[in-house]
Amino acid sequence: MDKIMMKTPLVEMDGDEMTRVIWKMIKDMLLTPYIDLKTEYYDLGLKNRNDTDDQVTVDSANAAKKYGVAVKCATITPNAARMTEYDLKEMWKSPNGTIRAILDGTVFRAPLIVKGITPYIPTWTKPITIARHAYGDVYKNTEMQVPKGSKCELVCTDENGNETRSEIYDFKDSAGIIQGMHNKDESIASFARSCFNYALDTKQTVWFATKDTISKKYDHRFKDIFAEIFENEYKAKFDEAGIEYFYTLIDDAVARVVRSEGGFIWACKNYDGDVMSDMVATAYGSLAMMTSVLVSPDGKYEYEAAHGTVQRHYYKYLKGESTSTNPVATIFAWTGALRKRGELDGIKELSDFAGRLESATVRTIEDGIMTGDLALLSKLENKKKVDTETFLSEIKARIEG
Ligand code: NAP
Ligand code: MG
Repeated sequence: MDKIMMKTPLVEMDGDEMTRVIWKMIKDMLLTPYIDLKTEYYDLGLKNRNDTDDQVTVDSANAAKKYGVAVKCATITPNAARMTEYDLKEMWKSPNGTIRAILDGTVFRAPLIVKGITPYIPTWTKPITIARHAYGDVYKNTEMQVPKGSKCELVCTDENGNETRSEIYDFKDSAGIIQGMHNKDESIASFARSCFNYALDTKQTVWFATKDTISKKYDHRFKDIFAEIFENEYKAKFDEAGIEYFYTLIDDAVARVVRSEGGFIWACKNYDGDVMSDMVATAYGSLAMMTSVLVSPDGKYEYEAAHGTVQRHYYKYLKGESTSTNPVATIFAWTGALRKRGELDGIKELSDFAGRLESATVRTIEDGIMTGDLALLSKLENKKKVDTETFLSEIKARIEG
């Protein structure tokens, strides 16, 4: 079989621990035998981030901006323990945060659904994709504990020095707590555009919800910006694609989500997205089956698995023990990126190969061959737990078979 040729390189962001091991296995076993793989390689492993003072992360994000499609391995976000483990110069920031800020992107997370693993909500037969607005609100707040007798106000000083004041609370009879937070019109607009673009890309309806009945200025601003951008820039395209934009109150949204069959994009404010993405991931089964893609408002894509570096498995692997780590979300990060690259470069064989690899992966699990995390969940009678390498060779056999 001739190898599939590529035109533009994919931006390849390598990572850490168990996922770094799996990354190489996927390339060696499932990609390079079939594709003349062209990538621009960035080593985001923690050692190299430390050696380059994290410049490599910035460079990789700029490359993603330049080429338009990137694929990323899970990476360690340093904490105190990692400072000693890797002898770090600094507690480097989360690479995902850095890349997201440079691309000004929104993260879309969607579960992979396979036969034999039933979501906790049995009506969810299609994936629910969560889009989280990853800027501002309570994540960039200022808060205070205030003593009894304090009077608290919001004060805004405009560029001419004029003050506008608004009382938060007069703590006459008790001590208490206050909080200030913000968001930016520009960031909300980028979020809206990323959601609408991704909806057109994947032909799915968008739901958005806030608490605008209570938060008449803050949440209402989100609602208004979404509505305005949709009407002016997307309505016609959505009509043509046969999809919709639907706004409702957050309480109504959660009730509808539970009763739905899935198959839509749920755009969430930052906090809602944080909480709901964990709920949705759990309800669909395994974190190892969650895919994730960062989409910028001008249509740049970075694909990855939603899970981390699976540290516990890595320490077993280092001791020479066999591990049954699930590579599926990482495989789908690659297929997502390859399909998108194929679409952008007009290389049909590349996009088709992505489809073949995905279908071989799903068939392997549906044939009962799976990693330990899925074996715990699967209701198939003939299921068999295998190690990562065996699982990958079973997939390989199905690509060829
Ligand atoms: P994690 O790597 O997602 O793993 C948490 C647990 O979930 C694992 O111990 C394992 O459970 C299970 N799991 C996750 N992925 C799995 C897979 N592919 N196959 C089988 N089981 C899987 O999260 P963490 O342990 O909290 O974080 C480890 C490192 O990853 C941290 O340094 C963190 O900073 C980083 N992280 C990176 C990203 C990213 O790059 N996007 C995201 C999250 C975390 P069992 O141990 O019970 O088998
Ligand atoms: Mg969370």
